[in-house]
Amino acid sequence: MNVPLLDLKPQYETIKDEITHSLEELYATQNFILGPHVEALEQAVAAYCGCGYACAVSSGSDALIIALMAEGIGPGDEVITSTYTFFATAGAISRVGATPVFVDIDSKSYNLDVSAIEAHVTSRTKAIIPVHLYGQAADMDPIMEIASRYGLVVIEDAAQAIGTEYKGRRVCAMGDYGCLSFFPSKNLGTFGDAGMVLSNNAEKIERIKILRNHGMSPQYHHQVIGGNFRMDALHAVILKIKLKHLDTWIEGRQRNAADYGRLLAGVKGLVLPTEMPYSTRHTYNQYVIRVQETRRQAVWDGLRKAGVGCAVYYPVPLHLQECYRNLGYAAGELPASESAAACTLALPIYPELTMEQKQYVAEVLKGLLA
Ligand SMILES: *Cc1c(COP(=O)(O)O)cnc(C)c1O
Repeated sequence: MNVPLLDLKPQYETIKDEITHSLEELYATQNFILGPHVEALEQAVAAYCGCGYACAVSSGSDALIIALMAEGIGPGDEVITSTYTFFATAGAISRVGATPVFVDIDSKSYNLDVSAIEAHVTSRTKAIIPVHLYGQAADMDPIMEIASRYGLVVIEDAAQAIGTEYKGRRVCAMGDYGCLSFFPSKNLGTFGDAGMVLSNNAEKIERIKILRNHGMSPQYHHQVIGGNFRMDALHAVILKIKLKHLDTWIEGRQRNAADYGRLLAGVKGLVLPTEMPYSTRHTYNQYVIRVQETRRQAVWDGLRKAGVGCAVYYPVPLHLQECYRNLGYAAGELPASESAAACTLALPIYPELTMEQKQYVAEVLKGLLA
């Protein structure tokens, strides 16, 4: 049997006709950048996330960059974030000239250890970027409390977590900004790169919309320097169609997680994902297990040999990346993240997995750990 880590083709088959038809209509208009489809998508995604306003942009990475730009964050400023995330979270901070300050994770949730944040706040700290990793919300209440006490901006990196809930509240609606990615492998993915910034503050999104198009307002007049962060209409057409199915696809992921939980319960040497008490809707962009550090390579190789796709998200925490050597972090400094990087392994979780495939993954994994 073959179980890929992710297979987007079965999902595409179910919406292919609708997408083809809508794209042909778009091609007939020859209007490819921003426009009515993008505006309609902004409204639909804002409503889905419980946010008042949204600005569609060119990628999730650019969503983070433009939110930092909108706050005037730059050289000399510090931004606190998790060291255990996709590089784009920290890359965005560096791209605007600010300095990422890395905080360790909670080893159960893989999200920011909120008890460690306050010790990293300095007079230069301007913002916190919590990441809702793998589709589970970060512990937002304490983060918002610290931010409000020190006057910090909160930018939620919800690239892996559209539709995720924290104590019944949707991500992106709790911080000052929420950033989404529509990269193909995210739970709502398009046929390329795209992203979105959301907020409940109309002025913030107004500023972002001006920055998205070279800081231009009105046409050919530039009061600020922005960039080309525009979304293509093609992505808006595709994403509007896919958004209608998102809840069903999320339910499929949750069902798969529950099935793995049953199939793998009690296996020695295996730690399954933990749904935290505040996590009222985990959307499982990834299903990440944990094994002993000394066994991970063998389990990884064994799964692949048996035809089961798997991956490590992420093998090197950001504070130990080559490009951040100048920041002076040492190995051992953020131990929960370093341990996660050494022990975790993501299994296939995409919604269209069959029961036979899940049973097969569980059997192979049990055999490797026996
Ligand atoms: C995917 C991802 C991003 C970046 O999104 P892109 O659309 O690929 O630029 C940022 N942060 C996290 C946590 C991600 O998983």
